[in-house]
Amino acid sequence: MFLERVPAGVYAVNCYILGDDKTGKAAVIDPGGDVDKIIEVLEINNFELEYILLTHGHGDHIGGVKELREKTGAHVYIHKEDGYMLKDFNANQSVLISGIKVELDADEFLEDGDVLELGKLKLSIIHTPGHTQGGVCIQVENVLFSGDTLFANSIGRSDLEGGNQQQLIDSIKNKLLILDENITVFPGHGPATTIMIEKTTNPFIR
Ligand SMILES: [Zn+2]
Ligand SMILES: [Zn+2]
Repeated sequence: MFLERVPAGVYAVNCYILGDDKTGKAAVIDPGGDVDKIIEVLEINNFELEYILLTHGHGDHIGGVKELREKTGAHVYIHKEDGYMLKDFNANQSVLISGIKVELDADEFLEDGDVLELGKLKLSIIHTPGHTQGGVCIQVENVLFSGDTLFANSIGRSDLEGGNQQQLIDSIKNKLLILDENITVFPGHGPATTIMIEKTTNPFIR
């Protein structure tokens, strides 16, 4: 499994490029901007982009989505409850965040329990509402992409569009902390961590 992080956009959101070495199929998670850099990584590795996956609809995660879709033809996926955010710059706060108005329609909607096949890899969608109502985490093998739901030693904000703190804590406890402790967690901001570390030391969810 190929995995590379590209700091993308004004806020240097963690954009992840995930690839199946055997078939050359790739997915990009949260292209917040810097589409040229993302495409360079895809080209160097001879990857064909199959999915553009969004963990949620906030402006810092979606700045490069339109351009990446135009340049690659890959479809854009977001949970159905965050679909409205992509279409409305007031809801996704893109102008506030980056000064650029971002509005687009998703191609496909995700639901809890969906499994996307990326070559031989299986990407499992876990709906984790609380940071936004349509926030998702994506698990593949022993890796979890946690968006703005779970961070190293912290959790996402719940005072932004779609937020609800109790729901966020419930999502983390009931849907993430039950996963294998050895899973490495790659959040939307900041460094990677593991389920075990967060279970034992994260002050927001103990
Ligand atoms: Zn967010
Ligand atoms: Zn964010």
